[in-house]
Amino acid sequence: MPVLALLDGTIADPTQPLIRVDDLGLMRGDGIFETVLVVDGKPRELGPHFDRLVRSAAMLDMPEPSRADFDRATQAVLDNWTGGSEIALKWVYTRGIEGGDGTPTGFALGLEISETVQRQRATGIAAITLDRGFDSDVAQRAPWLLLGAKTLSYAVNMAALREAARRGAEEVIFTTPDGFVLEGPTSTLIAVYGKTLRTPPATIGILPGTTQAALFRAAEREGWSVKTEPVRVSELAEADGLFFASSVRKITRLHTLDGTALPDSTAVHSELTRLYDSEY
Ligand code: PLP
Repeated sequence: MPVLALLDGTIADPTQPLIRVDDLGLMRGDGIFETVLVVDGKPRELGPHFDRLVRSAAMLDMPEPSRADFDRATQAVLDNWTGGSEIALKWVYTRGIEGGDGTPTGFALGLEISETVQRQRATGIAAITLDRGFDSDVAQRAPWLLLGAKTLSYAVNMAALREAARRGAEEVIFTTPDGFVLEGPTSTLIAVYGKTLRTPPATIGILPGTTQAALFRAAEREGWSVKTEPVRVSELAEADGLFFASSVRKITRLHTLDGTALPDSTAVHSELTRLYDSEY
């Protein structure tokens, strides 16, 4: 059963109406969110998630979210959770009601990890590359596109996943028209070459991933080389392993790309999972 808490720590019924129909988060997708993984009652990467919420709010010219508010709501969800050992904890923060006084709407919502995600974590995933239509320098040139902010406007990301399904895959690697790799609709792309991990930089117009950062921290400590640098689409075929990282997904292996089976990366996957888990 999902658990919903408001920013004042009040528990609310997630099956009952709560948000006004003129909330700009609903009307225009004008707002931001985070999804934090909680394992055995302990939230992972709480600080980095909150920092990213603040960064997204700044990019949208929204009032700075209060850490105390989100801590209070988070605690209320954790205190009332009766589900499994893992929680996908969503923080939502919208611009509030149209024509209102500018007070944001915010809440924390605890959800079970879906069976689909659990299967994908275990067995891997088939992905396709899809052009997102923005060149690699557009995030810097046109900040109003909000590339790299975690906004509630995920309709495009979800449409890309439906396109993947039409083509017999479950995931997407977004690419730029000038030939660079971006990210997945809900995850960071990590490419492994020998003992080197590579992921594209946030400056290319993607979210800086908290899961990827945790993995890179652990890997570097154990002697891996970690590089946050542009990755060309043409380099994907040469990788020893391709992985999606996200709070909910953890480290998920790609076994197929654009209809072609990738080299077996189950051993690399086990090693990356061990490294990631060693952070907690
Ligand atoms: N990129 C996008 C577009 C995402 O939506 C997400 C997470 O939801 C990520 C990357 C991965 O971020 P994190 O590891 O912090 O969950």
